[in-house]
Amino acid sequence: MRSRMEHRYRRLSWLTDLGGIKSALAEMHGLGMPRQPRLNTAVTRTADDPLFDEAWFCATLTDMLTHHPANRLEYPFAAEHIFEAPLVGFAAGDDLLFDEFKRIIGPHHFTPAEIMAWQARNQGVAAPKPEDMSVVCLIMPFSKATIDDNARQKEWLSERWAQSRLMGEIFSQTLVRDMVTLLMRQGILAVAPDATPLFRKKHYPEVGWASPWSHRHVAYAAGLGTFGMHDFLITEKGAAHRITSFVVNVRLRPNHTRPEDIHAHCLHYQGRECMACARRCPAQAISVAGGHDKEACAERCKRSVPYVNRNYHIFIYGCGLCSTGVPCATGIPSALSREDDTR
Ligand code: SF4
Ligand code: SF4
Repeated sequence: MRSRMEHRYRRLSWLTDLGGIKSALAEMHGLGMPRQPRLNTAVTRTADDPLFDEAWFCATLTDMLTHHPANRLEYPFAAEHIFEAPLVGFAAGDDLLFDEFKRIIGPHHFTPAEIMAWQARNQGVAAPKPEDMSVVCLIMPFSKATIDDNARQKEWLSERWAQSRLMGEIFSQTLVRDMVTLLMRQGILAVAPDATPLFRKKHYPEVGWASPWSHRHVAYAAGLGTFGMHDFLITEKGAAHRITSFVVNVRLRPNHTRPEDIHAHCLHYQGRECMACARRCPAQAISVAGGHDKEACAERCKRSVPYVNRNYHIFIYGCGLCSTGVPCATGIPSALSREDDTR
């Protein structure tokens, strides 16, 4: 009897995970997004105001992320950080790569100007010119404990990884919303595409499941990393992270050099022995011949829901085995970063 009760509790416990359910509804249907903050059009600048330049964005975002009370896991990892200090990068709003993304990713992918035009309409102001806006992008690395835990897994994601994905998604939206609110109060138009009702994942015949704003591609545009065999972005802080970004009506100079080669940091693509990610994949979704099979990967992730529900009592899918326990998990593989040093 007791074990039957326990089993029931485990089966239904995700019903109480309102954060997880809300996050899934937002991702799939764009539902439940809070209203956009209002733009303060009556602001008057004083000499004491910050400059809102590259240094201000890097320092403010790093400080907000590191000290934010929501950057925390819950029981049984209460008080642990979800994310370590971020990498911050900028891309110009009129960077031609954003037009290129419409061809590479699909016509549904927003340019910074399109998403900013939506926000300007919302606020009843004129849309700024693309050259007067920038995209600010953050790579938020998972904690060492989370990466190490998942590296030990062979079949399904670890509990810390599952919780970091769920709490990390909620936190990431809180962080960008806080930042957008702060900027709007200062009279600076800004928008976080994934905190708007326009952001919803859809299945497209040519590209499979995709959203209208790919943080990974935006991060590449900002010079923060390049794609690996597993399709994650390999950055200075590795491939085990979450990415977020927002568009702002300020001109910011790009602070990272974008490699021409979109696979510059992946050992396999650079002709070195590796494919550790393929060996880690429990769904055989990565191969030399086929690269990363998005559909097989999505199917495996979908199948993780009952496992996570039964064992960790939260409502989230995930995996990430190929981005942990591999040479690119926590940095650019040393063989390639040494090569960079000699160039
Ligand atoms: S594990 Fe190796 S092959 Fe796979 S993405 Fe990382 S560097 Fe590339
Ligand atoms: S996330 Fe998991 S299923 Fe998808 S490619 Fe990586 S290891 Fe395979």
